[in-house]
Amino acid sequence: MAIVAAAFALALAWCAPAQEMKQPTVVGAPEGKAPSDAIVLFGGKNLDEWIYTDGKPAGWIVKGGAMTVKGGGVMTKREFGSMQLHIEWATPKPPKGTGQDRGNSGVYLAGIYEVQVLDSYGNETYADGSAGAVYKQYPPLVNASRPAGEWQTYDIIFHVPIFDPNGEIMRPATVTVLHNGVLIQDHVEIKATLGGVRNVEGPKGPLYLQDHNHPVKYRNIWVRELE
Ligand code: MG
Repeated sequence: MAIVAAAFALALAWCAPAQEMKQPTVVGAPEGKAPSDAIVLFGGKNLDEWIYTDGKPAGWIVKGGAMTVKGGGVMTKREFGSMQLHIEWATPKPPKGTGQDRGNSGVYLAGIYEVQVLDSYGNETYADGSAGAVYKQYPPLVNASRPAGEWQTYDIIFHVPIFDPNGEIMRPATVTVLHNGVLIQDHVEIKATLGGVRNVEGPKGPLYLQDHNHPVKYRNIWVRELE
């Protein structure tokens, strides 16, 4: 009898919380556009959200709904912690150069972790330096690159490190990356990369886009902040 009662109580406990769960917040998700709860960092018209690393207004070329590398890397005025990031990019066409010297840029999460941007279509380089690599840490799981000049997407889920009360990293930052909709980084633990705008890992930082002397284009950049 006790067993039946216990089983019954367990069944009740199993069912009950479902009724009390909060309904998910409604988010508008129009096709090809930023979700309704996203912060749009570049919508195709201006660089209001961006500055050069010295704090001056960003001077990248804005044309045809895209922003093109010019005069140095740019970072967001805002800082972000854990987030979902959508960003589209295209490398120069016709392609020029080989290896790292071809359509090179980079998306630095929190200003310190680089997801490599490179023309990796028929262009071999060291694996952990190719498009979608966490630079010098993890090669992409596969090469999902499109040819030079074509628009490509990164959809990134990024979590900042968890720090203990002494400021030591208890759990490293993690990143998941889809390149053109294909999973290329699967929740990997990452460390700081050189060349960003931060040299110490923290709870927040700007999004930084690298100038590697190649006129790489970006468009349709938005962020959803995560808890
Ligand atoms: Mg780079």
